[in-house]
Amino acid sequence: MSFIRGLECKECGAGYPVEPRMMCDACFGPVEVAYDYEGMRGVVTRESIDAGPRSLWRYRDLLPIDGEPVAGLRSGFTPLVRADCLARELGVRELYIKDDSANYPTFSYKDRVVSVALTRAVEFGFETVACASTGNLAHSVAAHSAAAGLKAVVLIPHDLEEGKVVGTLVFGPQMIKVQGNYDAVNRLCTQVADRFGWAIVNVNLRPYYTEGAKTHGFEIAEQLGWRLPQHTVVPVAGGTILPKVWKAYRELVTLGLVEDVGPRIHAGQAAGCDPVVRAIETGTDTFHPQRPDTIARSIAIGNPADGPYAIRVVRDSGGAGASATDAEILDAVELLARTEGIFTEPAGGTTLAAAIKLIEAGTIPRDESICVCVTGNGLKTIEVQAGRLPSVPVIAARPEALAAVVDQAPAEPGAGSPEAAAPGGGRERWQRW
Ligand SMILES: *Cc1c(COP(=O)(O)O)cnc(C)c1O
Ligand SMILES: [Zn+2]
Repeated sequence: MSFIRGLECKECGAGYPVEPRMMCDACFGPVEVAYDYEGMRGVVTRESIDAGPRSLWRYRDLLPIDGEPVAGLRSGFTPLVRADCLARELGVRELYIKDDSANYPTFSYKDRVVSVALTRAVEFGFETVACASTGNLAHSVAAHSAAAGLKAVVLIPHDLEEGKVVGTLVFGPQMIKVQGNYDAVNRLCTQVADRFGWAIVNVNLRPYYTEGAKTHGFEIAEQLGWRLPQHTVVPVAGGTILPKVWKAYRELVTLGLVEDVGPRIHAGQAAGCDPVVRAIETGTDTFHPQRPDTIARSIAIGNPADGPYAIRVVRDSGGAGASATDAEILDAVELLARTEGIFTEPAGGTTLAAAIKLIEAGTIPRDESICVCVTGNGLKTIEVQAGRLPSVPVIAARPEALAAVVDQAPAEPGAGSPEAAAPGGGRERWQRW
């Protein structure tokens, strides 16, 4: 059953049928999918969702597809981790990590938006799907296209991390590296949107693609036991996920599935690319585009398409914004790894670093519930950690050699080693590592 009413301009409200479309003809504002919430009442319930698959498709009644899903049947429903060790470290009471570094199959939040966009692309009859990407989107489009039997064309900035390039190429897409940054790639895709007959997931399928991001928010609420966190800290690149987490929360409130606790949405960006956070801090509605310069490549978008909506949602929800330097981002990546065993890429470090700043500033009170959205996996960007982690000893395969590097005399069978407990001994070093 489909509850879609059609597309609606976010600026002037003009209506359009369900078709490939990015903008309003009248005012050039972005268009968004509108639903019949009245029709959902009593049909879309906690029970109906609970009876669905353990994937993002359990929320399919709130997603813009007509038939059965054909992509991402195992995507989404990622862990919501109660982060007590990290909470202790930060001095807060109730902290969660929504961990899309574990998303299937390409380890980022993009598996959500691509699952919905590709299903819609098949419904529209497209055979080729394309994207403008900072890395993770290309990765996800390539994987899901391979599985769905679609042809994929992925356009990326020419100098992306090797892990993302190799991880994408292995699925067999046509990859094109474009000279310039993401904003140049995106401009190119927008210019050719109708020319090649492609479904460009974040251009002419953008209204459907962006809806997939709501599932990140739905899952947070459901996994908290149908409860909204008081604070959600979300990264901002093109400005898709932040407003969609908010839309997800509002839809659940509208349907009576959660109580409205006045959830605040906070934005995290890298200091080397923070147009949205700057606008929030100066209290303006519009942002000044920037030329990105940050290790957080996947969120390095200097001219975010949905930036104004990210600004609006943060303000309307009573949230705030914070940006983090590259050093702060890497510290946060390592803090999350050390305390919770989660290895995120710089985008996730950015979000956590922003959350820490907002907690330290008192903007996020320490006794309120906080969810930090971790959107990508650190194994794709290992080069950013270069030179920051300890060097690893290489030893001969002999017990004495091992004992020497762990600061421990070879122990008699069954006997404890005095050095191990001594200050500066093995224990401390293990902890630091
Ligand atoms: C794409 C992406 C984001 C957010 O992008 P939006 O365009 O703002 O939705 C965040 N983190 C990672 C790792 C990403 O790949
Ligand atoms: Zn319009």
